[in-house]
Amino acid sequence: MSSEYLRPASLPEALKALASAGPAARIIAGGSDLMVELRQRRLHGQELPGLLVDVAGLPELQGARLQDGGLWLGAGLTFSQCQEDALIGARLPLLAEAARTVGSRQIRNVATLGGNLGNLSPAADGVTVLAGLGATAFLASPDGRRPAAVEDLAAQGLLPGEIIVGFHVPAPACPTAAAFRKVIRRQAVGIARFNLAVQLDLEDQGAIAAANIGVGAVFPSPRRVGEAEALLRGQKPSPGLWAGAALALAQAMLKACGQRPSMVYKEPALTRVAARTLALAWRRGLASREARS
Ligand SMILES: Cc1cc2nc3c(=O)[nH]c(=O)nc-3n(C[C@H](O)[C@H](O)[C@H](O)COP(=O)(O)OP(=O)(O)OC[C@H]3O[C@@H](n4cnc5c(N)ncnc54)[C@H](O)[C@@H]3O)c2cc1C
Repeated sequence: MSSEYLRPASLPEALKALASAGPAARIIAGGSDLMVELRQRRLHGQELPGLLVDVAGLPELQGARLQDGGLWLGAGLTFSQCQEDALIGARLPLLAEAARTVGSRQIRNVATLGGNLGNLSPAADGVTVLAGLGATAFLASPDGRRPAAVEDLAAQGLLPGEIIVGFHVPAPACPTAAAFRKVIRRQAVGIARFNLAVQLDLEDQGAIAAANIGVGAVFPSPRRVGEAEALLRGQKPSPGLWAGAALALAQAMLKACGQRPSMVYKEPALTRVAARTLALAWRRGLASREARS
């Protein structure tokens, strides 16, 4: 059995097709997750979707622009586009840095931000950045549009027939004070053992006005770690401060996941990498401030 494939010309057309096909339809964008899933289903003799609705080229899902004091990112943006887009590079270099670490060039050329969330993987790199920054996703359905926090969607999933149109991300005050790191089993294409997105907002005197920290793969879904963010707020940077915040991160992980066998490795690894990533974000912010003055 094979699936029918539809490439609608507009968002309303896509929504109509999804609504009339019901549960037999699946949304496809780059297909880098979905095609793997469908291949597995075929190999195991499981049912395939009756209809694939391709949303990757929908005009409503394209591009990045400034909007409402932040950035609008279309759900159809590929990771290659996130890597190369001038606006994202200038205003959200954290996302560009994370995009560079996704898969291989072939994957990045097709894999979309919307698909990264739609796949609901706890290790999704783009979702860790978006959740960490407190981004809002905008979802379209035949009933209209609704906003939802990316962090909540990553945990709860979408409603049937909903299409992610794009994301609104609050613009960081100090875009360069950011760093993304992920630890994978081998230095090639692989799923993160954990990933970490740090965005700092520095005061003129160098203290930390605010911090956003997203972590993936060590929680059931990527999330912000408010416990560590609160420790940093209003503080003067120091190795002790980074270590304390990193410890709070590791404790949040242990609290959420319990003492599994993998924690023997993950706890010290996350603590060390988090402390280094925080320090790197701060150094980057400071360096670009000094370069400007
Ligand atoms: C070899 C390989 C390496 C990879 N490496 C990484 C990596 O380093 N980091 C990482 O995060 N991921 C990685 N991935 C996973 C994958 O590439 C990403 O999750 C990607 O962002 C998925 O996007 P897509 O457009 O290909 O989604 P698709 O495969 O087309 O869809 C994925 C899911 O999302 C749904 N969906 C897609 N778009 C929408 C939309 N607009 N609205 C609602 N639902 C939607 C689909 O129905 C499906 O359930 C890798 C995958 C492979 C095969």
